Amino acid sequence: MGTTGFEPATGRCACGAVAYRVDGAATALYHCHCSVCRRLHGALFATYACVQREHVTVEAGTGSLSTYRSDLAKWQFCRVCGCHLFAEHEHNPGMAWYMPATLDGDLTPGHPRGSEKHIFVGSKSPLARIPDDAPRFEGHAPGEEGAASS
Ligand SMILES: [Zn+2]
Ligand SMILES: [Zn+2]
Repeated sequence: MGTTGFEPATGRCACGAVAYRVDGAATALYHCHCSVCRRLHGALFATYACVQREHVTVEAGTGSLSTYRSDLAKWQFCRVCGCHLFAEHEHNPGMAWYMPATLDGDLTPGHPRGSEKHIFVGSKSPLARIPDDAPRFEGHAPGEEGAASS
């Protein structure tokens, strides 16, 4: 249900050790500017696609995945090349996040148009530029993933 029209998408890490498949359209797409994501990804912000957990399948290289846990979430990355691929929030175990930047070719996560949100902009790098018309939130987007903790 809810996946009508979404062609399965594939992705992989930089060295190719880990490959995955996504079978459902993302419900949302987040650009997270928090200090943890910035450091974990070595980037100005990290981009996550949110999908039901059963829609993400690791097709190769499970043994090459390492896990990093914080109080709220865990991240999985390739221990060979360091590429971040997946994340899960402890408060929302039914959902998974993957990094759409690692999709093959020009595949997209199929998220609803206009559902890209910039979150935790309160800690964004001064180098990061957010388009004027993009939805932005100081912390989590209201009523969405992670907000249940408070
Ligand atoms: Zn790799
Ligand atoms: Zn973050």
